[in-house]
Amino acid sequence: MAYDFDLFVIGGGSAGVRLARIAAGHGARVAVAEERFWGGTCVNVGCVPKKIMVNAAEYGAWAGDAAAFGWDISVAGHDWARLAAARDAEVARLSGIYGKLLAGAGVTAFDARASFLDPHMLDVGGQRVTAERIVVATGGTPTRLDMPGAELGLVSDDLFTLKALPKRAIVIGAGYIAVEFASILRGLGAEVDLMYRAALPLRGFDEDVRAAAAESLAANGIRLNPDVTPARIERVDDQLMVTGGSTFMREADAVFFCTGRAPNTAGLGLDRAGIAVTAGGAIPVDDDHRTAQPHIHAIGDVIDRVNLTPMATAVGHALADTLFGGNPRRASYENVPTAVFMTPPIATVGLTEADAAARGPVDVYVTRFTPMRHTISKRDGRRTLMKLVVCQRTQKVLGAHMLGEDSAEIMQGIGIAVGMGATKQDFDRTIGIHPTAAEEFVTLRTRTREAGVPEAAAAQ
Ligand code: NDP
Repeated sequence: MAYDFDLFVIGGGSAGVRLARIAAGHGARVAVAEERFWGGTCVNVGCVPKKIMVNAAEYGAWAGDAAAFGWDISVAGHDWARLAAARDAEVARLSGIYGKLLAGAGVTAFDARASFLDPHMLDVGGQRVTAERIVVATGGTPTRLDMPGAELGLVSDDLFTLKALPKRAIVIGAGYIAVEFASILRGLGAEVDLMYRAALPLRGFDEDVRAAAAESLAANGIRLNPDVTPARIERVDDQLMVTGGSTFMREADAVFFCTGRAPNTAGLGLDRAGIAVTAGGAIPVDDDHRTAQPHIHAIGDVIDRVNLTPMATAVGHALADTLFGGNPRRASYENVPTAVFMTPPIATVGLTEADAAARGPVDVYVTRFTPMRHTISKRDGRRTLMKLVVCQRTQKVLGAHMLGEDSAEIMQGIGIAVGMGATKQDFDRTIGIHPTAAEEFVTLRTRTREAGVPEAAAAQ
């Protein structure tokens, strides 16, 4: 049968656009449908506008630090509207580039919603389109908790359309988005409560990092409310009242649910394509990102595996090379470096101490210090944490973790070393760049502790 396209991609976000562009470069006839905005979450309501706001939030404290270095700077206030205009202009620029990249690659772009009519046929904004292969790259969406008054709360998308800084904000959750949003709002001058159900923020991160994160968030003036499960939100006059746990009760101007994201699979007609989703709504795929239908693949946040933009683009690129480039390959989900842009940021690659220790004995190196800038500024909450987790048997660095200024910039390079299987001795023989915080990663001489279960090693 002759199809309209060799490849139809549903979703014009990070994963879908990269896949479409590269596949078209390999000579395929490609179309993409996007119903909301080109560039998806990352460009429009995620990484990009968020990072601009993180940058904005940091300037106030830096201006304060400058006095210790002799500068006479006074901060009169912050203009939210000016920041929003600069942010939105940059987002519009980048979103436009995504559209141009597709056109330049010869991809047919539909500004429309696409849904399955059968395994090879889609309804694309009312038009019937067929394709030999279809890839679902529809991403995810922020969710609210199921509780009374949930509709009164905001989600992450809403930060980017607020007309003013809420003076008092309650952030529910303690994952990536929660601690980033709490840092942004606090840095710009809001009173912020972070409320979360665990004892420490950032479940899944290394325990030392989690403890240091709690310390930094508190030092920045964010009120931490651990071990609290939110119960309800009510409107009281023009305020919102949040209650939770047995004692938490606080008023705020805005409440943000930062409690996870759900894959965008509703209304896609997946049943008509013979594809079932998981209980959480994700599309199950095999190691080659094939769904239950071998000609239909799914990539990016819609599979809910590693929900990070660079992972999605890497997988999209590999899939294009595999399907159309005569170069079958997979992007690895191992040793994915990642950063949390709270203030100061966290960055990590590889295993936590607990995960590494569950596999066998490890040597653990931890250092905490005040970076040079803040020995002068005397600002609280700026102590850096660096940590290496090293396999005792092979001396390979299994995990690197950092909380501190520039950690994301530093971890990108460490990620290359860890991905290549560098040993602690490889780190040690590397000459430091002095004076930097980064050099601490190559001068960790004294083991802090040993951890791990010898039996686990024997069983490997
Ligand atoms: P996360 O999964 O990171 O965090 C969700 C938070 O909500 C956790 O603290 C979780 O608590 C809490 N939570 C979930 N359900 C409930 C509940 N029923 N009651 C109370 N608390 C609850 O999700 P995010 O929305 O923060 O981020 C989604 C993903 O997006 C991230 O995992 C990441 O992959 C990606 N992302 C990456 C960024 C980056 O690279 N810098 C930035 C932002 C997002 P608990 O831990 O106890 O389950």
